[in-house]
Amino acid sequence: MTRRVQLEWVLLLVVGLCACGKPATYRYDVDAAVYHKFSGDLAMGHVTKLVGFGPRPAGSSALETSRKYIEARLSSLGWETQRQTFESETPASDKVTLVNLRARYTPKPVADLWERPYKVLIGSHYDTKLYEDNEFPGANDSGSSTGALIEIARVLVEPPSVAQVCELVFFDGEEAFGKNITDVDGLYGSRYFAKQLRKEEASQHPEHGIILDMIGDRNLNVGVPVDSPRGLYKKLLKAANDLGYGEYFGMHNSGIIDDHVPLNEIGIPTIDIIDLDFQPWHTAGDTLDQVSSDSLRIVGSTTLLLIEKYLLGDD
Ligand SMILES: [Zn+2]
Repeated sequence: MTRRVQLEWVLLLVVGLCACGKPATYRYDVDAAVYHKFSGDLAMGHVTKLVGFGPRPAGSSALETSRKYIEARLSSLGWETQRQTFESETPASDKVTLVNLRARYTPKPVADLWERPYKVLIGSHYDTKLYEDNEFPGANDSGSSTGALIEIARVLVEPPSVAQVCELVFFDGEEAFGKNITDVDGLYGSRYFAKQLRKEEASQHPEHGIILDMIGDRNLNVGVPVDSPRGLYKKLLKAANDLGYGEYFGMHNSGIIDDHVPLNEIGIPTIDIIDLDFQPWHTAGDTLDQVSSDSLRIVGSTTLLLIEKYLLGDD
């Protein structure tokens, strides 16, 4: 074997290792950034579609319809999806089948896509609260964040692709079957997801998590719960201020029990971007007219800039 051939073997080995073990790298470039491509109107179109499926509590056929809709949209954008299916006992019935929908992106097919390390988890629950006696449309809760996450999926794969270092997760069963979330009711999807992730090596864990929830209120007033990591909150404010949206973002006066909690508990710093100051919350008044495409755009583009510039970039 000549020295030249040996070198080629070494190079092949290095390239091979990079191809299967390391996440793709990314550098923030203001000219190539994609945050401004987020369309509030396209996001609103998804919210309208989801609300059209009817109330979507965990275990319902309307939620299965929503799942198929999300899968079809993501797949048309080049994302691979995977259903994380599990059963759980709930106060409402013996067992409910729940499904977290995970999505990853790669420009070329790879065998180890789901084992690849990634940097940012972006999540939203997609179930709606179960009410026996009223039609709960869930336009803002959870239509808004679900629609925004589908639009984020579209924007992320535009060059330069940051999609390769992200995982999108649509969590099932965030809502409690009883009135309020308790230790055993609610957060079914994120608790299960975190439990599975904890079994994996730390190198498989994302460095940052972002949860979107109730982000479409036409009177937008995001109040990040105080149990979100302070460092992530500061970066969120920087991104919002860069875009002139600082007035829409602040801190809630307490912690909030939401899908960020199980992730923080297993050591993944996760911020909850939520506007709980929403008059028709958990009522039949959570209708499409309460949701504005401007609010979706403000939160969507701020979230993308947070990821591109402050989480993955050099700032
Ligand atoms: Zn809710």
